[in-house]
Amino acid sequence: MKLTIWLVPFFLAIAPAAQIQAINNDVYTVQGVTAEREAVIRRQIQAMQPRVLPYRIRFVPHWQYLYAAKVYQLHVPTGMGSKMFTHLPTRSVFVDADRYDGQEWLGHWLAHELGHLATNSASEEDAERAALEYRKRLQKLRTSSAERKTLVGSR
Ligand SMILES: [Zn+2]
Repeated sequence: MKLTIWLVPFFLAIAPAAQIQAINNDVYTVQGVTAEREAVIRRQIQAMQPRVLPYRIRFVPHWQYLYAAKVYQLHVPTGMGSKMFTHLPTRSVFVDADRYDGQEWLGHWLAHELGHLATNSASEEDAERAALEYRKRLQKLRTSSAERKTLVGSR
């Protein structure tokens, strides 16, 4: 036990930043959501094991979402396409809170944004390619929690 305590700060001191994040999964902040929804987000991100974590995930009302997009000079299409975007230099994921449509919706699109971060690319194709693997892992999380429910229910 003592050895472990000693080893952790030692390892943190020599590990590059990316590895520190892999160890400490809670380094990012989630803003603008209830504690319950934040827990869901953290569970989903943990299940996806993204190569690169965001620094922050911000849920904002629609008008603020559009404003943020404008500040970051992003083109946000007015149609159905836009629910979230990632500002790569600050690794910030903005979510249009008014578009929130349940956990599955959230996981699906978070995978896309994490894809942008993993590839460090603004290209939708690159993001989707990385998102495929993340969505598979999410699917596994859903399957295992469904199984747990069945077990609890049959007791
Ligand atoms: Zn995208």
